[in-house]
Amino acid sequence: MGKDAQILAILADGQFHSGQELANHMGLSRSGVWKLIQNLQSKGVEIYAVQGKGYRLSQPVELLSKEQIQNEVAARITDFSGDISVLWETESTNRYLTQSSAKAAVSGMTCLAEWQSAGRGRRGRTWISPLGGNIYLSQLWRFNSGPAQLSGLSLAAAIAVVKAIHQCGATGAGLKWPNDILIDGQKLAGILLEINGESNGPSNVIVGIGINVRLPESSLQEIDQPATSLEAVLGHKIQRNQFVSYLVCELFEVYQEFNDRGFSAFIEQWLDLDVYLNQKVNLSLPTGNISGINRGVDNSGALQVEHGGQVYSYQSGELSLRALPN
Ligand code: ATP
Repeated sequence: MGKDAQILAILADGQFHSGQELANHMGLSRSGVWKLIQNLQSKGVEIYAVQGKGYRLSQPVELLSKEQIQNEVAARITDFSGDISVLWETESTNRYLTQSSAKAAVSGMTCLAEWQSAGRGRRGRTWISPLGGNIYLSQLWRFNSGPAQLSGLSLAAAIAVVKAIHQCGATGAGLKWPNDILIDGQKLAGILLEINGESNGPSNVIVGIGINVRLPESSLQEIDQPATSLEAVLGHKIQRNQFVSYLVCELFEVYQEFNDRGFSAFIEQWLDLDVYLNQKVNLSLPTGNISGINRGVDNSGALQVEHGGQVYSYQSGELSLRALPN
C-alpha cells in the first residue's frame, strides 16, 4: 500500500487525526504528511485542516476491499469465477484490463480503481474520476459471436447498472440511449464498451463503468453537463463494497442472458427504463441534427426516432441524444 493509500485509510473514519499522529504512524515528517494531504486533495478528496486538531475528511469513506466484494459476490453467485483486482490508481480501468488481458483473456476478469488519472468516455471524452468515493469498474467478457452480433450489449450492460443502482434505493434512475444513466435529468453513471474480435467470433468485450457515488463540488464544476451522485440523490452514505457486489452480480446475469438470447430479451426492460421514451429529442449526427420523437429501440438496440411521419433506426456510434423541451 502506498503512502497516500495509507493516510486515506487512517482518515477514512472521518475523525480528526493530528499531523503528529499521522507523521508518527507513517514514519514521515509533518511536512511530509502535509504533502500527502495536498496530493490527496488535488485528486478530489475533501480534507479539512483545522489548527490544533489536525486533518479530517469531509465525510467518512469506505475504501474498496477485494475480499469483501469477492465474499459478497460468492454469496450470491456460486459459479462466478472472475478474478477481481482492486487498484489504488490507474490511468483507466479499461486500459488496465486491456493490457492485463493481452496474454490471457479470461471471462469475468474485473478491475476496480479508487482513482483514474485519465478516465475515458465515448469518442475520446473524459470521465472525471475523483479519488476514493466512486466506482470505476471494468469487466472483460468473451463471447463466441463476432462484434456485429453484439450490438445491443452496451444497452444491456446499462440495464444491469440501473438495476444495481435501484437496489441502493435510487429507484428514479433510468436510461438515455445508448448507455447513460440519468436521474432527474442529471448524469449519474456512464459506460464505455470496447469490443475486439474476428468477424465470426470470438470477441473480447471490455465494459467500463463509472458511477458517481460521491462527487466533490470541485469535480462537479469540471463536468460540462448536469451531473449528480448517489449520495447527493439519496442523502445518505452508500456502502461501496456492497454496491459493487450488486453491480458485479447484475452484470453477470445480464451477460448470461445476452449470450443465450441476445438483446431482444431486454427490450421490455429498456422501454420501462428509457427516461426519454415518447418525448421530443434531438439527435446529433455527423451530418447534422435531427429532431423527432424517441420511440425506443428495436431488436438490435438501434434507436427508433420518429420524424416526418416515419420511424427511422439509428445505430450507436457517432450519435448523441438529448431531450428537447416539450
Ligand atoms: P452521449 O453518449 O450522448 O454522446 P455524453 O456526452 O454523456 O453522451 P459520454 O462519452 O457518455 O458522453 O460521457 C462523457 C461525458 O460525460 C463527458 O464529456 C462529460 O460531459 C460527462 N462526464 C464526465 N465525467 C463525468 C462524471 N463523473 N459524472 C457525470 N458525467 C460526467
